[in-house]
Amino acid sequence: MQKLTNRAVQIDRSPMTFAERAYLPAIAKGLGTTLSHIFKKKATVSYPEVKRPFSPVFRGLHVLNRDENGAERCTACGLCALACPAEAITMEAAERKPGEEKLYREEKYAAKYEINMLRCIFCGYCEEACPKDAVYLSETVMPSNYDRAGFIYKKEDLLIPHPHKKDAK
Ligand code: SF4
Ligand code: SF4
Repeated sequence: MQKLTNRAVQIDRSPMTFAERAYLPAIAKGLGTTLSHIFKKKATVSYPEVKRPFSPVFRGLHVLNRDENGAERCTACGLCALACPAEAITMEAAERKPGEEKLYREEKYAAKYEINMLRCIFCGYCEEACPKDAVYLSETVMPSNYDRAGFIYKKEDLLIPHPHKKDAK
């Protein structure tokens, strides 16, 4: 019969030897492959003691920014929540009261600001949408957690420390 392609493989149907039936050539071949890897450079690292460098465009855990005096930059405009394709951001706006100028930079601020990290896809759209330079994605890797509630990051978790107050948020 004429061959359709030249890729046909001739199968050896001769009876197997005792060694072949005992898988000895296959075992020797497998051990050879294993031994050859002993002298090769390791493809793995001992994480978490050793960490690989991240890409320069890596996007990690979110951070809520303060201005140089420590006042919260977020004005609760909602643009980040609007830009978020995963609908991960929720917030509640509040009016700044007289005397709170040092706490909040704008007349309106986020009384509540939450990001659901289980929804977040770390796309960075919230950072791009923010007109106040208030939210950005840091180089911190999102920590794991045993509890779903632990992935809901509140304003207190996201705010960077106050630049002039020690141990203060
Ligand atoms: S990084 Fe993307 S998915 Fe995550 S909160 Fe920001 S906009 Fe939403
Ligand atoms: S983080 Fe930025 S975009 Fe989001 S509500 Fe605050 S000011 Fe608006």
